[in-house]
Amino acid sequence: MPLTELVIDGFKSFAEKTTIHFGSGITGIVGPNGSGKSNITEAIRWAMGESRAKTLRGDNMKDVIFAGSEFRKPLNSAEVTLVFDNKNRQLNFESDKVSVTRRILRSGDSEYLINNQSVRLKDVRELFLDSGISQNSLAIISQGRVDQILNSRPEDRRDIFEEAAGVLHFKKQKEIANAQLDKTNQNLVRINDLVKELE
Ligand code: ATP
Repeated sequence: MPLTELVIDGFKSFAEKTTIHFGSGITGIVGPNGSGKSNITEAIRWAMGESRAKTLRGDNMKDVIFAGSEFRKPLNSAEVTLVFDNKNRQLNFESDKVSVTRRILRSGDSEYLINNQSVRLKDVRELFLDSGISQNSLAIISQGRVDQILNSRPEDRRDIFEEAAGVLHFKKQKEIANAQLDKTNQNLVRINDLVKELE
């Protein structure tokens, strides 16, 4: 499921629409300090559903929108698209090519698209679950993340192994099913109370 293309438009320092093509093998991105190398990995993380502004070195999610420079006015929106080769169906989606787009406006409105169809954040997260590249995986290691992992609680570290083993997906489904069971039990208690009142 290689990432073949990344399109960044209005995200952080990328005021101009920029397309990066990834060939087979290793791609190295080089540039002077502050030229935007980390912004590229953050664009990937953001498009995959990152919801913590701090992880993207901001205070607010709107901080990802190009804030202007000496020569350019600030922009009103940011958009990032990831294109994956899905011929091996590693992503749970019936298409040889899968594109995931995230868009944000200065108003704070946000939108996700899979193959140009509007979807929920939940759908994007589910698409990447068990793919090995989901939000908390080690596919993207930012500066300082190694220390963070080494110092993390054992339960958090266990999530990393569970994702690699492919069980995280089932664990999440179990959590949802348990929450529904709890709700149903509460409803049953309420019904019993009402029946008793009516008797
Ligand atoms: P280093 O090698 O020092 O780690 P880098 O190449 O990884 O640097 P980044 O940290 O990706 O560089 O980019 C930092 C640049 O992005 C800074 O110049 C910063 O002003 C710019 N930047 C960040 N957010 C925005 C934004 N919302 N609008 C405009 N520019 C931004």
